[in-house]
Amino acid sequence: MPLARRLLLSASRSAWLARQLSERAFFRRAVRRFMPGEDLDAALAAATTLAGAGIGTVLTQLGEQVTNRGAAAAVRDQCLVVLDRFAAQALPTEISVKLTHLGLDVNPRACLQDLLALAARAAAGQSFLWIDMEESRYVDAALELYRAVRAAHPRAGVCLQAYLRRTPADLETLLPLAPAVRLVKGAYSEPPDVAFPRKRDVDAAYLALAGALLERAAQGEARPVFGTHDLALLGRVRERALALGVVPGAYEVHMLYGIRAAEQRALVQDGVPVRVLVSYGTHWFPWYMRRLAERPANVWFVVRNLI
Ligand SMILES: Cc1cc2nc3c(=O)[nH]c(=O)nc-3n(C[C@H](O)[C@H](O)[C@H](O)COP(=O)(O)OP(=O)(O)OC[C@H]3O[C@@H](n4cnc5c(N)ncnc54)[C@H](O)[C@@H]3O)c2cc1C
Repeated sequence: MPLARRLLLSASRSAWLARQLSERAFFRRAVRRFMPGEDLDAALAAATTLAGAGIGTVLTQLGEQVTNRGAAAAVRDQCLVVLDRFAAQALPTEISVKLTHLGLDVNPRACLQDLLALAARAAAGQSFLWIDMEESRYVDAALELYRAVRAAHPRAGVCLQAYLRRTPADLETLLPLAPAVRLVKGAYSEPPDVAFPRKRDVDAAYLALAGALLERAAQGEARPVFGTHDLALLGRVRERALALGVVPGAYEVHMLYGIRAAEQRALVQDGVPVRVLVSYGTHWFPWYMRRLAERPANVWFVVRNLI
């Protein structure tokens, strides 16, 4: 893994750095590139604008690794409010949650109950619940919770990370569920025996996993979502879909707010359903550092905001 990426990912876990930078005006200005605002209304306004351009959204409240049940319950309650707001405004919006934000580290059983409550509310409003994937030590728990939620509610999906060496085997176990899978490359710092360190290998793994998902989608037995801004890779995935006879409407592309906006619109023109992941909330430091790590050139954007 390149040094700049490694440094930024390790900085993302520094509480000291978070305190130093989060209140600095230049840093807060730079963050706005990737999030429309800290409050829910800003996220919903962005979702409304994107809906006008035929682009759906997935909203996520930033935060992770809460350390007590009260904080996790507050996150759940806020998510329930958000799902009600989608329904009231008839927005084509889904929700995504991090399990450690819902207290996975504190009480996995309560975390499952919260997920079930969110999936039920999402289904009632014709929305959808996505489960983010965090560091590799959480994958077993995330997949177990996803299976339990999926057994009760069809409108639930999970993220899989192509950089993990274990992911082909994990996907194999999920396929019988006719799963919804958001396939991403992976955003965390992982040792080489756990995750491929080289982009070339991650891209090859991504393409193979995408192929397996598309084969299922061809039989109407999966909802494949390609969560990437890598247009070359996406081009190869789309060629694979064409070869398998999977029409553009049978798979989706999800991207992050603020990245590749023109390409999002071009994909929609081509008949590919696109959603943008819109983040909101005050706990943005670790998430923003991961965005910088994905493209260390983004650090120049922060520096430019200093001037
Ligand atoms: C909808 C969505 C959901 C995600 N959910 C998760 C999750 O649950 N768990 C997880 O581990 N990861 C998640 N990720 C992040 C993902 O793992 C990657 O870290 C991230 O998408 C960057 O990889 P890439 O596929 O865009 O390809 P890359 O090869 O990293 O990037 C390809 C090109 O895209 C552009 N680009 C990529 N990232 C940025 C950026 N930050 N700023 C500006 N340009 C950029 C650049 O032009 C770059 O050359 C998610 C990503 C998306 C889009």
